[in-house]
Amino acid sequence: MSVLELKNLIKKFGNGKKDLVAVDNVDLSVNHNEFVSIVGPSGCGKSTILRMIAGLETPSSGGIYLDEKEVLGPDADRGMVFQQYTLLPWKTVLQNVTFGLEIKKIPKEQRIEIAKKFIKMVGLEEFCDSYPYELSGGMQQRVAIARTLANNPKIVLMDEPFGALDTQTRAVLQDHLLKIWQTEKKTVVFVTHSVDEAVYLSDRVVVMTARPGKIKSIIDIDLDRP
Ligand code: ADP
Ligand code: ADP
Repeated sequence: MSVLELKNLIKKFGNGKKDLVAVDNVDLSVNHNEFVSIVGPSGCGKSTILRMIAGLETPSSGGIYLDEKEVLGPDADRGMVFQQYTLLPWKTVLQNVTFGLEIKKIPKEQRIEIAKKFIKMVGLEEFCDSYPYELSGGMQQRVAIARTLANNPKIVLMDEPFGALDTQTRAVLQDHLLKIWQTEKKTVVFVTHSVDEAVYLSDRVVVMTARPGKIKSIIDIDLDRP
Protein backbone atom coordinates (compact mmCIF):
# COMPACT_ATOMS: atom_id res chain seq x y z
CA MET A 1 0.00 0.00 0.00
CA SER A 2 1.47 3.31 -0.96
CA VAL A 3 1.68 6.11 1.60
CA LEU A 4 3.47 8.72 -0.44
CA GLU A 5 2.89 9.58 -4.09
CA LEU A 6 4.85 12.03 -6.22
CA LYS A 7 2.96 12.76 -9.43
CA ASN A 8 4.48 14.52 -12.44
CA LEU A 9 6.60 16.52 -10.06
CA ILE A 10 8.44 19.45 -11.61
CA LYS A 11 10.56 22.10 -9.92
CA LYS A 12 12.12 24.97 -11.80
CA PHE A 13 14.36 27.62 -10.33
CA GLY A 14 15.10 30.88 -12.04
CA ASN A 15 14.02 34.31 -13.00
CA GLY A 16 11.73 33.29 -15.84
CA LYS A 17 14.29 34.23 -18.48
CA LYS A 18 16.35 31.16 -18.03
CA ASP A 19 14.86 28.51 -15.79
CA LEU A 20 16.86 25.73 -14.28
CA VAL A 21 14.89 22.50 -14.19
CA ALA A 22 15.93 20.86 -10.92
CA VAL A 23 13.27 18.15 -10.92
CA ASP A 24 11.81 17.05 -14.23
CA ASN A 25 8.55 15.15 -14.17
CA VAL A 26 9.25 12.69 -11.40
CA ASP A 27 6.72 9.99 -10.52
CA LEU A 28 7.33 7.89 -7.48
CA SER A 29 5.31 5.99 -4.93
CA VAL A 30 6.57 4.84 -1.57
CA ASN A 31 4.93 2.00 0.31
CA HIS A 32 4.03 1.83 3.97
CA ASN A 33 7.15 1.05 6.06
CA GLU A 34 9.37 1.07 3.03
CA PHE A 35 12.90 2.53 3.24
CA VAL A 36 13.58 4.25 -0.06
CA SER A 37 16.84 5.96 -0.91
CA ILE A 38 17.32 8.54 -3.63
CA VAL A 39 20.86 8.53 -5.01
CA GLY A 40 22.60 10.51 -7.70
CA PRO A 41 25.42 12.96 -8.23
CA SER A 42 25.51 16.34 -6.52
CA GLY A 43 23.06 18.78 -8.07
CA CYS A 44 20.74 16.15 -9.58
CA GLY A 45 17.76 17.35 -7.57
CA LYS A 46 17.67 14.95 -4.61
CA SER A 47 17.41 17.61 -1.91
CA THR A 48 14.85 19.55 -3.90
CA ILE A 49 12.62 16.47 -4.09
CA LEU A 50 13.00 15.87 -0.36
CA ARG A 51 12.37 19.52 0.49
CA MET A 52 9.19 19.42 -1.58
CA ILE A 53 8.05 16.27 0.25
CA ALA A 54 8.79 18.09 3.52
CA GLY A 55 6.70 21.03 2.35
CA LEU A 56 9.70 23.38 2.54
CA GLU A 57 9.65 24.02 -1.20
CA THR A 58 6.63 24.38 -3.49
CA PRO A 59 6.46 22.31 -6.70
CA SER A 60 6.33 24.29 -9.95
CA SER A 61 3.79 21.72 -11.11
CA GLY A 62 2.60 18.26 -10.22
CA GLY A 63 1.83 17.19 -6.71
CA ILE A 64 2.82 15.28 -3.60
CA TYR A 65 0.26 13.19 -1.75
CA LEU A 66 0.60 11.71 1.71
CA ASP A 67 -2.18 9.19 2.40
CA GLU A 68 -3.91 10.65 -0.66
CA LYS A 69 -3.96 14.16 0.80
CA GLU A 70 -1.97 16.80 -1.05
CA VAL A 71 1.06 18.15 0.82
CA LEU A 72 0.85 21.94 0.95
CA GLY A 73 3.40 22.90 3.61
CA PRO A 74 5.39 21.48 6.48
CA ASP A 75 3.64 19.62 9.30
CA ALA A 76 4.33 17.01 11.95
CA ASP A 77 3.41 14.11 9.64
CA ARG A 78 6.75 14.53 7.93
CA GLY A 79 9.81 14.47 10.17
CA MET A 80 13.03 15.72 8.66
CA VAL A 81 16.62 14.94 9.64
CA PHE A 82 19.09 17.36 8.06
CA GLN A 83 22.79 16.97 7.38
CA GLN A 84 23.52 19.60 10.02
CA TYR A 85 22.09 18.36 13.28
CA THR A 86 20.06 21.53 13.98
CA LEU A 87 19.74 20.89 17.72
CA LEU A 88 18.84 23.82 19.93
CA PRO A 89 22.17 24.67 21.62
CA TRP A 90 20.64 26.12 24.77
CA LYS A 91 18.60 22.99 25.47
CA THR A 92 19.79 19.66 26.87
CA VAL A 93 19.48 16.41 24.94
CA LEU A 94 16.27 15.59 26.81
CA GLN A 95 14.85 19.09 26.25
CA ASN A 96 15.71 18.95 22.55
CA VAL A 97 13.74 15.72 22.19
CA THR A 98 10.78 16.77 24.36
CA PHE A 99 10.45 20.16 22.66
CA GLY A 100 8.41 18.91 19.69
CA LEU A 101 6.13 16.96 22.02
CA GLU A 102 5.58 20.11 24.08
CA ILE A 103 4.35 21.86 20.94
CA LYS A 104 1.96 18.95 20.41
CA LYS A 105 0.70 19.58 23.97
CA ILE A 106 1.58 16.12 25.24
CA PRO A 107 1.60 16.19 29.09
CA LYS A 108 5.01 16.61 30.71
CA GLU A 109 5.41 13.17 32.28
CA GLN A 110 4.38 11.45 29.08
CA ARG A 111 6.73 13.50 26.91
CA ILE A 112 9.67 12.74 29.16
CA GLU A 113 8.80 9.05 28.98
CA ILE A 114 8.55 9.12 25.17
CA ALA A 115 11.76 11.15 24.81
CA LYS A 116 13.70 8.82 27.07
CA LYS A 117 12.56 5.80 25.10
CA PHE A 118 13.99 7.23 21.88
CA ILE A 119 17.14 8.62 23.50
CA LYS A 120 17.76 5.11 24.81
CA MET A 121 17.10 3.69 21.37
CA VAL A 122 19.97 5.76 19.97
CA GLY A 123 22.16 4.73 22.90
CA LEU A 124 22.42 8.10 24.64
CA GLU A 125 20.47 7.52 27.85
CA GLU A 126 23.49 8.65 29.88
CA PHE A 127 23.55 11.99 28.09
CA CYS A 128 20.01 13.25 28.75
CA ASP A 129 21.31 16.25 30.68
CA SER A 130 24.21 17.06 28.34
CA TYR A 131 24.18 20.02 25.99
CA PRO A 132 24.81 19.59 22.25
CA TYR A 133 28.27 21.20 22.42
CA GLU A 134 29.34 18.47 24.83
CA LEU A 135 28.57 15.77 22.26
CA SER A 136 30.40 14.61 19.12
CA GLY A 137 28.85 15.15 15.69
CA GLY A 138 27.70 11.54 15.51
CA MET A 139 26.04 11.78 18.91
CA GLN A 140 24.31 15.02 17.96
CA GLN A 141 22.94 13.37 14.85
CA ARG A 142 21.66 10.49 16.97
CA VAL A 143 19.81 13.04 19.13
CA ALA A 144 18.36 14.59 15.97
CA ILE A 145 17.16 11.14 14.86
CA ALA A 146 15.65 10.48 18.32
CA ARG A 147 13.91 13.84 18.19
CA THR A 148 12.39 13.08 14.80
CA LEU A 149 11.22 9.59 15.79
CA ALA A 150 9.78 10.82 19.12
CA ASN A 151 7.43 13.07 17.17
CA ASN A 152 6.05 9.94 15.52
CA PRO A 153 5.81 11.27 11.96
CA LYS A 154 4.06 9.20 9.27
CA ILE A 155 7.17 9.50 7.20
CA VAL A 156 10.80 10.23 8.03
CA LEU A 157 12.82 12.30 5.56
CA MET A 158 16.60 12.27 5.78
CA ASP A 159 18.87 14.50 3.73
CA GLU A 160 22.45 13.17 3.79
CA PRO A 161 22.12 12.67 7.56
CA PHE A 162 25.60 11.19 7.83
CA GLY A 163 27.22 13.50 5.30
CA ALA A 164 29.01 15.59 7.90
CA LEU A 165 30.49 12.60 9.72
CA ASP A 166 33.78 10.74 9.32
CA THR A 167 33.74 7.30 7.67
CA GLN A 168 33.94 5.32 10.89
CA THR A 169 31.19 7.24 12.69
CA ARG A 170 29.10 6.99 9.55
CA ALA A 171 29.39 3.18 9.55
CA VAL A 172 28.43 2.98 13.22
CA LEU A 173 25.38 5.19 12.66
CA GLN A 174 24.31 3.20 9.60
CA ASP A 175 24.26 0.05 11.72
CA HIS A 176 22.46 1.91 14.46
CA LEU A 177 19.82 3.05 12.01
CA LEU A 178 19.33 -0.49 10.67
CA LYS A 179 18.83 -1.75 14.21
CA ILE A 180 16.32 0.98 15.03
CA TRP A 181 14.43 0.15 11.87
CA GLN A 182 13.98 -3.45 12.98
CA THR A 183 12.08 -2.39 16.10
CA GLU A 184 10.56 0.89 14.94
CA LYS A 185 9.34 0.31 11.40
CA LYS A 186 8.84 3.58 9.57
CA THR A 187 8.36 4.85 6.08
CA VAL A 188 11.61 6.57 5.14
CA VAL A 189 12.86 8.61 2.22
CA PHE A 190 16.62 8.92 2.49
CA VAL A 191 18.80 11.10 0.28
CA THR A 192 22.46 10.29 -0.23
CA HIS A 193 25.11 10.59 -2.92
CA SER A 194 26.55 7.26 -1.74
CA VAL A 195 25.31 4.24 -3.65
CA ASP A 196 26.93 2.01 -1.00
CA GLU A 197 24.98 3.67 1.76
CA ALA A 198 21.73 3.46 -0.20
CA VAL A 199 22.15 -0.22 -0.99
CA TYR A 200 23.13 -1.02 2.58
CA LEU A 201 20.13 0.68 4.18
CA SER A 202 17.26 0.53 1.74
CA ASP A 203 14.48 -1.66 0.44
CA ARG A 204 14.48 0.30 -2.80
CA VAL A 205 16.98 2.64 -4.43
CA VAL A 206 15.89 5.37 -6.81
CA VAL A 207 18.75 6.39 -9.09
CA MET A 208 18.61 9.90 -10.56
CA THR A 209 20.32 11.08 -13.72
CA ALA A 210 22.83 13.92 -13.40
CA ARG A 211 20.50 16.29 -15.19
CA PRO A 212 17.88 17.41 -15.54
CA GLY A 213 16.55 15.72 -12.42
CA LYS A 214 14.97 12.61 -13.87
CA ILE A 215 14.77 9.11 -12.48
CA LYS A 216 17.07 6.75 -14.31
CA SER A 217 16.08 3.51 -12.65
CA ILE A 218 14.59 2.03 -9.51
CA ILE A 219 16.35 -0.93 -7.95
CA ASP A 220 14.59 -3.31 -5.60
CA ILE A 221 16.94 -4.62 -2.97
CA ASP A 222 16.02 -7.87 -1.38
CA LEU A 223 17.58 -7.04 1.94
CA ASP A 224 18.04 -10.10 4.04
CA ARG A 225 17.89 -8.10 7.23
CA PRO A 226 19.47 -9.89 10.16
P1 ADP B 1 21.24 17.54 -4.89
O1 ADP B 1 20.51 17.47 -3.59
O2 ADP B 1 21.03 16.31 -5.73
O3 ADP B 1 22.68 17.87 -4.71
P2 ADP B 1 19.68 19.91 -5.28
O4 ADP B 1 18.28 19.45 -5.21
O5 ADP B 1 20.27 20.57 -4.10
O6 ADP B 1 20.59 18.70 -5.76
O7 ADP B 1 19.82 20.90 -6.52
C1 ADP B 1 19.35 20.60 -7.81
C2 ADP B 1 19.63 21.77 -8.71
O8 ADP B 1 18.80 22.87 -8.33
C3 ADP B 1 21.07 22.29 -8.60
O9 ADP B 1 21.45 22.75 -9.86
C4 ADP B 1 20.94 23.44 -7.59
O10 ADP B 1 21.95 24.39 -7.74
C5 ADP B 1 19.58 23.99 -7.94
N1 ADP B 1 18.91 24.62 -6.79
C6 ADP B 1 18.57 24.00 -5.64
N2 ADP B 1 17.95 24.87 -4.81
C7 ADP B 1 17.92 26.05 -5.45
C8 ADP B 1 17.42 27.34 -5.13
N3 ADP B 1 16.82 27.58 -3.95
N4 ADP B 1 17.56 28.32 -6.04
C9 ADP B 1 18.16 28.10 -7.22
N5 ADP B 1 18.64 26.90 -7.61
C10 ADP B 1 18.53 25.89 -6.73
P1 ADP C 1 22.98 19.63 -0.50
O1 ADP C 1 23.34 19.18 -1.89
O2 ADP C 1 23.85 19.06 0.56
O3 ADP C 1 21.53 19.48 -0.20
P2 ADP C 1 23.15 22.34 -1.44
O4 ADP C 1 24.37 23.15 -1.25
O5 ADP C 1 22.81 21.79 -2.78
O6 ADP C 1 23.25 21.19 -0.36
O7 ADP C 1 21.88 23.17 -0.97
C1 ADP C 1 21.77 23.75 0.30
C2 ADP C 1 20.68 24.82 0.26
O8 ADP C 1 20.98 25.81 -0.71
C3 ADP C 1 19.31 24.29 -0.11
O9 ADP C 1 18.35 24.99 0.64
C4 ADP C 1 19.16 24.59 -1.58
O10 ADP C 1 17.80 24.73 -1.93
C5 ADP C 1 19.94 25.89 -1.69
N1 ADP C 1 20.59 26.03 -3.01
C6 ADP C 1 21.28 25.10 -3.69
N2 ADP C 1 21.71 25.56 -4.86
C7 ADP C 1 21.29 26.86 -4.93
C8 ADP C 1 21.42 27.89 -5.89
N3 ADP C 1 22.05 27.70 -7.06
N4 ADP C 1 20.87 29.09 -5.63
C9 ADP C 1 20.22 29.30 -4.48
N5 ADP C 1 20.06 28.36 -3.51
C10 ADP C 1 20.59 27.15 -3.74
